[in-house]
Amino acid sequence: MALADSLVSEIQDLLDAGHSKSKTADILGLNHKQVIRVMDKYSLEIYTPFDSDYLPEAKQEIDEFYAEDLLEKLCDIAFDDLRVNISECLEEEFESVGGYINQKYGSIFKYLDKNGKSALSECIYASCGNCGVEYNLTKYQRKNGRLYGLVLSECNKCRSERIKYYYQTNPDAFKRVQHTRRARPNSLPHDITLDELRISKEAFNNSCVLTGSTNTQLDHVIPIAIGHGGSTYGNMVPLRPDLNHSKNDSNIFEWFEANRQRFELPQERFDNLIDWLASAKAMTVEDYRDYVYWCHANPRNIDESEAI
Ligand SMILES: [Zn+2]
Repeated sequence: MALADSLVSEIQDLLDAGHSKSKTADILGLNHKQVIRVMDKYSLEIYTPFDSDYLPEAKQEIDEFYAEDLLEKLCDIAFDDLRVNISECLEEEFESVGGYINQKYGSIFKYLDKNGKSALSECIYASCGNCGVEYNLTKYQRKNGRLYGLVLSECNKCRSERIKYYYQTNPDAFKRVQHTRRARPNSLPHDITLDELRISKEAFNNSCVLTGSTNTQLDHVIPIAIGHGGSTYGNMVPLRPDLNHSKNDSNIFEWFEANRQRFELPQERFDNLIDWLASAKAMTVEDYRDYVYWCHANPRNIDESEAI
């Protein structure tokens, strides 16, 4: 069965506007797997802001130890001065170190994660590839496909302005989103599929998201009891039963801060979890955090007996 051309081009438009696959599916009222199938079949592509010839060469002539030294120097300066600009620090080695980091780690974020230096992302600055303004790394999207080694595509501000501009110039797309937002369910959605459940567990090796224990229960990250969240993809993760019980109806961010020492929970696992939850909901980590706090600040009474 051939898909209507208009639907294929709508999907491409939304991807061009910078939406993720799952957000695109949400807006069009499709399942995200349908979007993936259409993308495969029609060779649609996720928006990338640079021409491929701008990317660092796959093979760069730089010695591994030299590249690691330069990166360590960058981190040392960031640690000492609390501020370092990547391109100013690396100067003529910027491209070659970028190519190296791209190949070995995927992105500067992953380099920092792997070396236990994620906290330095607040001190390492880069110029936005679009507006040229210097921001620290926390003001960029962490997502794969938007970062090439050290080249940061666009700051979050440029990203949101680009999406806003897209909706201003594509009124039909905007109507669709408004419609989606107006639709207030009188019961929480419980539409996670078995496939999505499997994906959610496999993302964490079928073990507890915070401890790696294989003894797990499914936790609703945003609790059903506060009238938000529901049993949806991106709101259900495997958690050790005692942690699930302890967390109960709490805000996951507050609960983690209050209990991380008691249960000896590693920050890195928590950060990975939040990254995953945010991207499953097609949000930035900051937006996801705001959303969770908003849900807890605005509890709703939902008649769960009506939920299917
Ligand atoms: Zn920018």
